[in-house]
Amino acid sequence: MKQKINLFRESLKLVWKSAPGWTVANIVLSAIRSVLPLLLVVLIKMLIDAITAAVKEGQGFEDNQIILMIVAVAVVYFIDEISSDLGNWVRKNQSYKLEIFMYGLLHRKSISLDLINFEKPEYFDILTRASREAPWRPNSILNNLITLLKGAASLLLMTGLIFTLHWSMAVILLAVNIPGIWMRLHYAGVLYNFQKKQTPEARKSAYFNWLLTGDRPSRELRLFGLGDYFIKMFRNSFLRHKEEEMDIIRKRTFIEMISGLFKAAALLFVLIFIAGRTTGGVISLGEMAMFLLAFRQGMTYIKEIFGSVSGLYEDSLFIGDTFEFLNLEEKIKAEEPIASVKVFNDKIILENLTFTYPGNRSKTIDNVSLQIKKGEIIAIVGPNGAGKSTLVRLLCRLYDPDSGEIRLDGNEIKNIDPAEYRKLFSVVFQDFMLYNLSAGENIRLGDIGANVVDQENKIRSAAGTAGVDKLIASLPEGYSASIGNLFDDSRELSWGEWQKIALARSLYRDAPILILDEPSSALDADAEYEIFSRFREIVKGRTSILISHRFTNVTLADRIIVIDQGAIAESGTHDELMERKGIYHSMYTKQSGRFAGSQESDY
Ligand code: ATP
Repeated sequence: MKQKINLFRESLKLVWKSAPGWTVANIVLSAIRSVLPLLLVVLIKMLIDAITAAVKEGQGFEDNQIILMIVAVAVVYFIDEISSDLGNWVRKNQSYKLEIFMYGLLHRKSISLDLINFEKPEYFDILTRASREAPWRPNSILNNLITLLKGAASLLLMTGLIFTLHWSMAVILLAVNIPGIWMRLHYAGVLYNFQKKQTPEARKSAYFNWLLTGDRPSRELRLFGLGDYFIKMFRNSFLRHKEEEMDIIRKRTFIEMISGLFKAAALLFVLIFIAGRTTGGVISLGEMAMFLLAFRQGMTYIKEIFGSVSGLYEDSLFIGDTFEFLNLEEKIKAEEPIASVKVFNDKIILENLTFTYPGNRSKTIDNVSLQIKKGEIIAIVGPNGAGKSTLVRLLCRLYDPDSGEIRLDGNEIKNIDPAEYRKLFSVVFQDFMLYNLSAGENIRLGDIGANVVDQENKIRSAAGTAGVDKLIASLPEGYSASIGNLFDDSRELSWGEWQKIALARSLYRDAPILILDEPSSALDADAEYEIFSRFREIVKGRTSILISHRFTNVTLADRIIVIDQGAIAESGTHDELMERKGIYHSMYTKQSGRFAGSQESDY
């Protein structure tokens, strides 16, 4: 309970921070609306009594008292209506302010979280629930609390009024709603647990839906005729997920109907009682109307109150996920004693690095030690799955190793602010990004924060080096042309062209260390030759790490590191490794033999 109250408090703080003015307006309007119904009921009673008296005394309609009452009823009714409309408008404004505020929190958290979280399915489950609930749950808490207080105040006034008729009527009004309360609280818990259990299944449905409707899967889907297969997968996953939910809702509806029966019985009893009192002359016609309305309103308030109580209970369950996500801790941060490193002067040392992905059994990186000197060109080769890309991720501190350390110019990288440290690197990842933006912007993203003097020329120069300048120049709007397939006026590029853009992006960034993970996997032979024959000129003395399966490209490196099963198997220059006749020699001769063979057969 204490924990739930804390969650509410934290949520209300968020609501307040996101829109203090709208929150006050919402509370004030709700307070006004809580007294209006009682006023209306009392005025109606007075009106009926005035009409009854006028009828008895044979007076006409023009009686001032009657007209005054009619006007008063109409005015209160009007105020109630407009405050309801205003309330909706205020709530909508407050909701959208909160939504953008919460999205801000979610996005900021998502970009700062350790990359390792993205390897864990539980992370995606929390993220899915948090992004589904966060934008509106805190407001729901506020509105439920307001409804609860407003309903409680109105109910108190109405119950007081009914009490004047007979105490038992007030008791009936409250008691008849008990089954409803129990049901709502019980099913709020059941539905939450169900939805929590079903998050992975819901993600599966969303994934199959993407396979069926997304752009990337659309080609294979058609070629391999996978449509019906995935429709079936989606259907099964969706039904599994929905049928159980419908079963819970069916049970809840049944109990709701039973509780409706109780209410009807109570109404019957109350009607008989009030009719008896009216015909017995104990209460006036006006009072009869007032009590009937009060009873009806009382039932509505109780429904509202219990609705908000169960709503709050449900909110407390779901908002927990949002705070769980927002409170996830980043482990990749600068540790004391903090070192400020803005330049790379000497060398990077990797010492006894060991790393295993969460959920994997064997070590991905196994006791790797390596020195990289400033200005060196290092090539990393090795079979698929050897751990090359993982080593690079550790070097960029996207993950922290399980053991071992990396030192840059003598400073352990754990002591350097990760954002500052990463500024020293420019990387073309194997799975580089395609941004549906302009061609120029796609390159500029390589160093978005930099204050570049001659930005346009620098972008063109990076594009020229990557061999993509002619293509961009041929686009209708040149560097301003949108590329990709997401927007109407954009032009899609080939995969190789995208790769050249990614290369240009990395070259645009003035970082002292350049990492290229399979940068030419999709390039044509000419483009690849063009880049690698001028590699030293292109990297301009930067420390470079090149991962490649093309052995002709790696021969240019000062040193070649061969990784096998997460460990360094061999290292040296091309000639040294060839002499050694180990893994490198075997892979190199196989590849060059294949080329020689294919050339022979070509001729
Ligand atoms: P390739 O030449 O195919 O690109 P690589 O040498 O770059 O391979 P890595 O991508 O570093 O290999 O992967 C090394 C091992 O770690 C592989 O066995 C892979 O299955 C595993 N692995 C890679 N990424 C992840 C991940 N995100 N989560 C779990 N395991 C991973």
